Amino acid sequence: MKLHEYQAKDIFRKFGIPVPDGQVATSGEEAVRVAEKLKGPPWVVKAQVHAGGRGKGGGVRVVDSLDDVREATQTILDQPLITKQTGAEGRRVYQVLIEEGVKIHQELYLAMVVDRSLARPVMIFSQAGGMEIEEVAARSPGLVLKEFVNPNTGWMPYHGRSLAYQLDPLPQPETLKALISLMARLYKTFMQLDCSLAEINPLVITKEGKVVAIDAKIDVDDNALFRQKELLAYDDPKEKDPLESKAGQYNLNYIRLDGNIGAMVNGAGLAMATMDVIKMAGAEPANFLDVGGGASEEMVTKGFEIILQDKKVKAILINIFGGILRCDVLARGVLAAAEKTEIPVPLIVRLEGTNVEEGRRILEESGLKFLVAKDMAEAADLVTKQVS
Ligand code: GDP
Ligand code: MN
Repeated sequence: MKLHEYQAKDIFRKFGIPVPDGQVATSGEEAVRVAEKLKGPPWVVKAQVHAGGRGKGGGVRVVDSLDDVREATQTILDQPLITKQTGAEGRRVYQVLIEEGVKIHQELYLAMVVDRSLARPVMIFSQAGGMEIEEVAARSPGLVLKEFVNPNTGWMPYHGRSLAYQLDPLPQPETLKALISLMARLYKTFMQLDCSLAEINPLVITKEGKVVAIDAKIDVDDNALFRQKELLAYDDPKEKDPLESKAGQYNLNYIRLDGNIGAMVNGAGLAMATMDVIKMAGAEPANFLDVGGGASEEMVTKGFEIILQDKKVKAILINIFGGILRCDVLARGVLAAAEKTEIPVPLIVRLEGTNVEEGRRILEESGLKFLVAKDMAEAADLVTKQVS
């Protein structure tokens, strides 16, 4: 689950990580009322969307008058924000964060993630802040410092010292102390809230020598939400693809993609392989959908409905290897969906495995129009022919 910047900053405040004063607003007038209560000018107006790179896309504006606060807010709210991470159509912005401006002396990068191969949390620190860390890593890998933490013993003061003392030139002792203490707090935040990412880019050293998180990004591991119930309040359905949220309600693993071949598959591995064969046949998948091994007839129905609701879809491929999910259950699920909505696009079916004969019989006797493929390659070819 992704959090908005303002939500991540609320959390940082609770954990004692310094952030600028600020508040969200949903209109130009409200933004001015917020700014009046804050120290400034300058003020900073920041689009609240689940996408990075806002600065370069015009979603972060540093302004010097209340009129400019109003205007910047209205401009950001009026048009979709396009950044490197939003795709060409951009994202609508529903709220902005108004903050007191900070006088930046230096921009740093600080983040906590899990290193999966080492199965350890790792703190990443760089004095090349403000830029994308991937870019820094590619161009000057020596500037990306890492400190791995043993989760059994936790964060140790030396972890922070060994990162901070590599700054060149070394900041004032007070600043260093604040930085090292902030690192420990970020580790604590990350661990206590079961984050998969806690990132501050940039973490700034101000002209007064203070260390302040002027950006904040927190992703929480969905698998831990059962024990992070207070964080559920931060969920923002408006940021999600409507079909993906619907799929989430039925425990379907569905990810929307840009192509026009809808695919319904059981098992993540088979779903990935199906996307590969679709691409190899020269078409593009419209989605990843793993209905799962234990899928019920209802889940199959819902999955099929979701594919049908995606207006980009011009043909559908059902690729099932019946194991725990039996082919007859799949067939009944598809029929239930077909009874409610007509299927306006060609349907290609490849079924194998448990109860395959019964599955085929149910489909054939239903009067539903579909093409049968004997294997995956043929299925991909058939489905690609429908759209080319
Ligand atoms: P992102 O582009 O989505 O990562 O948004 P950020 O919150 O990182 O803001 C982008 C850039 O705006 C930062 O790297 C800063 O250079 C600048 N910026 C943000 N807040 C302030 C501020 O208070 N004062 C000044 N001078 N610049 C700021
Ligand atoms: Mn940033």
